[in-house]
Amino acid sequence: MAGTGKFFVGGNWKCNGTKDSISKLVSDLNSATLEPDVDVVVAPPFVYIDQVKNSLTPRIEIASQNSWTGKGGAFTGEISVEQLKDIGCKWVVLGHSERRHVIGEDDQFIGKKAAYALSEGLGVIACIGELLQEREAGKTFDVCFQQLKAYADAVPSWDNIVIAYEPVWAIGTGKVASPQQAQEVHVACRDWLKKNVSAEVASKTRIIYGGSVNGGNCAELAKQEDIDGFLVGGASLKGPEFATIVNSVT
Ligand code: PGA
Repeated sequence: MAGTGKFFVGGNWKCNGTKDSISKLVSDLNSATLEPDVDVVVAPPFVYIDQVKNSLTPRIEIASQNSWTGKGGAFTGEISVEQLKDIGCKWVVLGHSERRHVIGEDDQFIGKKAAYALSEGLGVIACIGELLQEREAGKTFDVCFQQLKAYADAVPSWDNIVIAYEPVWAIGTGKVASPQQAQEVHVACRDWLKKNVSAEVASKTRIIYGGSVNGGNCAELAKQEDIDGFLVGGASLKGPEFATIVNSVT
């Protein structure tokens, strides 16, 4: 890993689970042995955050999968940063490809959410990543840099941000980026931060990889110098496999 923080592994549970299945997942995570030198975070569906917070080992922090752009109020269906903090969230996942491409959130809206969450003290897992057609058209770096710029233009500080590079073609498809493909984009993003934010931010910001990470492919990916951890979807719903991914730190 090249970022100077700890290896960081997030589990994004997306819109999955029931009270029962989540209680089983929490009990598997509570009994798992996790490398001490890794930041571990899980993002349950909103409606189960309280259940998870009350039963999960404090060794693992809680993230939400989204947040509103400002203070709460008359915003039907939204959840405010203040409410998330009130129930014990420390992090929020923003800019996930499913929010960008299924729900239609744009760079500016995501930047606004990131700025507000940071100003209120939540850590932000800031997702970026290209579509398959953008990769095939040779636009991977352009897309990632444009998404990074939207965060950079909005946020006052990078102290509490983890970047998650998640190529959209690899999310939920079983088609993982090769360690070389992921490393190439991570280095390019670090370089972008160096040129456009600062050398200090470039060296200390963790850049994690997401997209079909599992217990079988995590070790090779984790060996790459600029991969500072993972954001895991499907495999984070299986406690023992998620623990294997956490423990892939090199
Ligand atoms: P996946 O999802 O691991 O199921 O590909 C990753 C993500 O969406 O964060």
